[in-house]
Amino acid sequence: RLARLRARLVKSNNIFGRSLLALLSRDEIDEDVWEEIEEILLMADVGTEPALELVDRLRERVKVEGTQDTGQVKAMLTEELTALVDPSLDRRLTVTAEGRPAVIMVVGVNGVGKTTTIGKLARMLVAEDKDVLLGAADTFRAAAAEQLSTWGHRVGVPTVKSDVEGADPASVAYAAVDKGIELETDVVMIDTAGRLQNKADLMNELGKVKRVVEKKSPVDEVLLVLDATVGQNGLNQAKVFAEVVNVTGIVLTKLDGTARGGIVVAIQRQLGVPVKLIGLGEGPDDLAPFDAEEFVTALLE
Ligand code: GDP
Repeated sequence: RLARLRARLVKSNNIFGRSLLALLSRDEIDEDVWEEIEEILLMADVGTEPALELVDRLRERVKVEGTQDTGQVKAMLTEELTALVDPSLDRRLTVTAEGRPAVIMVVGVNGVGKTTTIGKLARMLVAEDKDVLLGAADTFRAAAAEQLSTWGHRVGVPTVKSDVEGADPASVAYAAVDKGIELETDVVMIDTAGRLQNKADLMNELGKVKRVVEKKSPVDEVLLVLDATVGQNGLNQAKVFAEVVNVTGIVLTKLDGTARGGIVVAIQRQLGVPVKLIGLGEGPDDLAPFDAEEFVTALLE
């Protein structure tokens, strides 16, 4: 399964990897090569500062070691890229809690893949023998709750939702956690609305959902879902969410459809939050834990 996900990542990013490697295979690694590498990194959405840093470090290392050997330079590039993605970050999801369900809130703008991610994550957890319950706190659109419970059926987990359109999202979230406690569920995942009218709106709604849930149980994870194809614009949205709720992890979706995987670096730098999961397709199995080394290897394949 991982091999399949990886193949998908390679496929969408191979323009990036191939052009980098092609550059390093030139007879002479000169100033033009460094400039082109910088450009490719920028096109992959790594961000200006990290791209410049990486090229500076790599150029320095190549100079100090006096090498023009493609294999060696490729190994250095792999190391430097991996360092940028930061393998030291703790990317484990909290999915167990002592004597109560672990509570995961999922937030993000409409259309980024929140509901789909919850479905896929539920499936992943069920495969690990966990009892999961979903809470449909996106009460703004009736279709959202329907979509969530459809995923629930698909992966065999119950969904708590309100029959009233426009019901108070916080009370639905509270009811879901309450039900989770009653059923001794391992994990409760709460879907939230993604309207981004303005920050005050969002603050009122998401902040309230979190506060109300916390009357019943601590919230263990707040996962922010971001669409990789949106690129740097997504970062601005992300910052607003991060200011409103304490985001503990990023889920980067739609990496199967973009060569901009470098956005992982930019996100982590700017938000100080690790990417924990990646979405690589629309199907129930198209979600994977994020692993820095594996990711970079796939980028450079
Ligand atoms: P929400 O509004 O944030 O809940 O977004 P949805 O879960 O409804 O997803 C919006 C669209 O993105 C749907 O068509 C999903 O199938 C699609 N989608 C979600 N995640 C991925 C992914 O990782 N890759 C691809 N290619 N499509 C995805």
